[in-house]
Amino acid sequence: MVLDDAALQKFSFIPRGMKDAINIDPLQTGGKLTEDAKRTLLEWGDGYSVCDYCGGVLDLIKKPPIEEFVHSVLPEFLNTDEVRVTHGARESKFAVMHSMAEKGDYIVLDELAHYSSFVAAQRAGLNIRTVPHSGSPDYKTDVEAYATVIEEITRETGKAPALAQVTYPDGSYGNLADVNRISDLCHRYDVPLMVNGAYSVGRMPIDAKKMGADFIVGSGHKSMAASGPVGLLGVKEDYADIVFRKSPTHKNKEVELLGCTVRGAPIMTMMASFPHVVERTRNWYDEVADARWFSSRLEDLGIMQMGDKPHDHDLMFFKAPVLYDISQTAKKGRYFLYRELKQRNIHGIKSGLTKYFKLSTFQVGRENLKYVADSFEEIIDKYQKKE
Ligand SMILES: *Cc1c(COP(=O)(O)O)cnc(C)c1O
Repeated sequence: MVLDDAALQKFSFIPRGMKDAINIDPLQTGGKLTEDAKRTLLEWGDGYSVCDYCGGVLDLIKKPPIEEFVHSVLPEFLNTDEVRVTHGARESKFAVMHSMAEKGDYIVLDELAHYSSFVAAQRAGLNIRTVPHSGSPDYKTDVEAYATVIEEITRETGKAPALAQVTYPDGSYGNLADVNRISDLCHRYDVPLMVNGAYSVGRMPIDAKKMGADFIVGSGHKSMAASGPVGLLGVKEDYADIVFRKSPTHKNKEVELLGCTVRGAPIMTMMASFPHVVERTRNWYDEVADARWFSSRLEDLGIMQMGDKPHDHDLMFFKAPVLYDISQTAKKGRYFLYRELKQRNIHGIKSGLTKYFKLSTFQVGRENLKYVADSFEEIIDKYQKKE
């Protein structure tokens, strides 16, 4: 029954229904394809499309110019020694954790780390200790505590942690911790540092060496205008032989990458968008200005921005008691906000949220941001008048 022709029809072309909406979903603002990337997606959409001229190592393919992209352009873009393309930020993190640590070892994460960092560590059989943050309203990571946590682990287990990680920025509040101070502290104890740049690589200027990052992680579908799943892993030369070690049986295949990673359209869309991505990282400070402007518009309406203030990133977390109060009496309760925004063609705040929500202003543009802020104002006015 489920495999009959009529039933199967529902799986053919499915429109997304998002045409022309203003998108402020933090997961999506940095992953929108450029026009070139859209054309590329169709052109290279067939499976294994990049493998026509492959001599056995995906990142050494010359036509299309994957080798140049991976081995010279990306290392310069991130200022790191070796880069590989992966299936996403989490796969990059797992590769590092799995190769740098042994089962049972400890690693240090910031408490604000993404769930995928915890899950990657668990898959690698590692123990986790976290560095705390200050809680509401700033959620500031206690940078000095990297030293305390490293010392604690060393004292209790007789062995320093295999790795420390900082999420830059974190995926909830968009806070940028003092990464230079963190790397100084970690290196004092000979602990290598991984910087999770899922929300920074492809959005803002990133210089791994200047940060003191031994590993830098990026997400193509989150921040590099790529269709994905695709991500980046940058590694300092000291650790490249460990993370990118080769198979004893298949001499040109890197074990941690299972031989080959992104075998088609995702890497091609990442390359197609790359000129635009370089350009936008150069204009990052305009994005910060837009984020701050938008934050102050919402604050004027009684919607408070949590996290670093003034804010240095487009990802922002808001606390909105005024919208929560409205939801208590509005028709359909807490779904009113989603419905009102949808009517105004604004997409990206999760259905049912009113009291707390996050959003991103990245690449939305001042004019659209003004429209979004005006819409919040209009919605609040409309419901407050009803009461
Ligand atoms: C989105 C996100 C990830 C996951 O990225 P993938 O590329 O989908 O694995 C990891 N870390 C942070 C901080 C994120 O925001």
